Amino acid sequence: MRVIGTAGHVDHGKSTLVKALTGIDPDRLAEEKAREMTIDLGFAWFTLGGGQTVGVVDVPGHRDFIENMLAGVGGIDAILFVIAADEGIMPQTREHLAIIDLLGIEHGLIALTKVDMIDDPEWLSLIAEEVRAGLQHSTLATAPMIPVSALNGDGMDMLHRTIEQVLSGIAVEQSYTTPHLPIDRVFTMPGFGSIVTGTLHGGLLKVGDEIELQPSGIRGRVRGIQSYKQGLQTALPGSRAAVNIAGIDHQDIQRGMVLSHPGIIVPTRLFDAHFRHLADASRPLEHNAEIKVFTGTSEATGHVRLLDHETLPPGADGWIQIRTEQPLAMLPGARFIVRYPSPGETIGGGVIIDPHPPQRWKRFQADVTDRLRLRADGTPEQRLAQAADAPEPLKRAALHARTGLDRTTFESALTAALDQELVVLLPDQTLIAAGRWRYWRESLIEIVSAFHHEFPLKAGIPREELRSRLGIRQAVFNALIAELDGIREAATLVSATSHIIQFNATQQTLVDSLLDQMNASPFTPPSVQEGMAAVGSDIYFALLALGEIVQVAPDVMFTAAAYHALIDGVQQLLDLHGSVTAAQVRDQFGTSRKYAIGLLEHLDSIGMTRREGDARVRSVRGGSSS
Ligand code: GDP
Repeated sequence: MRVIGTAGHVDHGKSTLVKALTGIDPDRLAEEKAREMTIDLGFAWFTLGGGQTVGVVDVPGHRDFIENMLAGVGGIDAILFVIAADEGIMPQTREHLAIIDLLGIEHGLIALTKVDMIDDPEWLSLIAEEVRAGLQHSTLATAPMIPVSALNGDGMDMLHRTIEQVLSGIAVEQSYTTPHLPIDRVFTMPGFGSIVTGTLHGGLLKVGDEIELQPSGIRGRVRGIQSYKQGLQTALPGSRAAVNIAGIDHQDIQRGMVLSHPGIIVPTRLFDAHFRHLADASRPLEHNAEIKVFTGTSEATGHVRLLDHETLPPGADGWIQIRTEQPLAMLPGARFIVRYPSPGETIGGGVIIDPHPPQRWKRFQADVTDRLRLRADGTPEQRLAQAADAPEPLKRAALHARTGLDRTTFESALTAALDQELVVLLPDQTLIAAGRWRYWRESLIEIVSAFHHEFPLKAGIPREELRSRLGIRQAVFNALIAELDGIREAATLVSATSHIIQFNATQQTLVDSLLDQMNASPFTPPSVQEGMAAVGSDIYFALLALGEIVQVAPDVMFTAAAYHALIDGVQQLLDLHGSVTAAQVRDQFGTSRKYAIGLLEHLDSIGMTRREGDARVRSVRGGSSS
């Protein structure tokens, strides 16, 4: 299925011609009827001799409405350029031709209309020559030109046949990327709810599909699809479709949004692009100039950063970054147009290279332009690897969308990229660029070793602190830790396997003295508070981490040896009596109630014992012996 768009100056007879061609009046708005002018986009369709349905997007020609035209001509297969024979080429025709060119529309034809108004055939051929000359440097330079009259029908058959011929020469979009439909119209119908229209690209859209609208991210479901007034289960890329959406209020939908499967398109306010400045632009493009950008059916205001030019003269091209005020939904490879806001002027456009650059690039950096060149012209696996260099690992479908590659190319590029270790497949099946993965690994090791350096007496860095400093998701963090040989995790602390807590001579003296004191009365040792006061809290926690000391209650600690002796003693008492009381522990070890109770509460908490009245019995969950 095909879509053609119209272009031409206002009053040259575009709408009349579309109506003659399709039998549908594209001027649907009452206001348009009143003003007899195409303001918004009109839609119509007709069937070619071979049975093929062709959609027609009739775009307005008036200067004020040029921005609506941009919403219409993005995503069409061919252009039907309408020029009235009695008027010929107008100043504004140049702008229309430039836009067609910048949008990469390479196919089209010219309808030289209103020929009924020209009596003299010689005059007509003169005009045709003049029009041909005016098209000289455009993509329509060699396009067929058909003289027609919508009024008396002259030339209409020829127009039909020529459209068929032009369309048959265009390859059908066969290699699918991912379905996306830039919305150009929204309305409601009683009993149906929200309906959006647009030209579908990249893949199949089916009734029942879960969908998402970007940049807002609202989700819904496809309830029904119509294409050219026919209900469909599946819409094909390249066709116009009206999609009935369940679950989204029409007030939450606007022209410019993109409908796609969920989790595929991530909105952006910064993108990298290659830009062609029109030769007849009024002045050089300045760095940081305020501009309006149009892509798909959306538009935004923003500023342009010139990456490889001080200023960009008319006729030149270069690498740019555009920052926008409003978020946009876009895929790489899409075309865009740039205009000055006021006075309005189309100044150029180009191709979106990367919708999600990792940062605002510094200007005049060879590595930046190299990167952009690689992204634009590199091998599919290089482009894939660059697209995988995201702030977080991507699901396969999302990575696919970011590459802008068709499905077959993407699949083989992915195999190649994995083989060449350009990307890493994580256990949760997400993908990340090898360079980014390496960066995270190195950063993790760096942070852990810096932590050990700063806190030599600490066993390790708390995992949450480490994770948040790396700024990565839990699943990615886990995969990272699992993969790193020299890193271990114990009790939510992450450390280098090589890390050992070592005391210096002064510290060791303090430690020895405390341990001596504790060993001297193992079951009535100094309290936690006294211990901390003796060695300092850092050393105290190090002793805990090393397992030299076990703390059983807020103020009760034992040496490891005493702790194990106590546990053995409690086990024996349990074997003997089936239960144990604080008094029994106190008497058995010649200690005090404080220590005995501290210990038993601890044993409850680790699940060895369970309190029953005044005594402890073996806990079911603790098992019979430790
Ligand atoms: P648009 O602004 O390009 O869509 O132009 P319209 O289709 O509204 O046509 C502008 C005017 O030209 C209207 O008054 C039409 O009736 C007239 N017109 C359109 N096509 C023809 C044609 O083939 N022959 C003649 N004589 N008049 C035409």
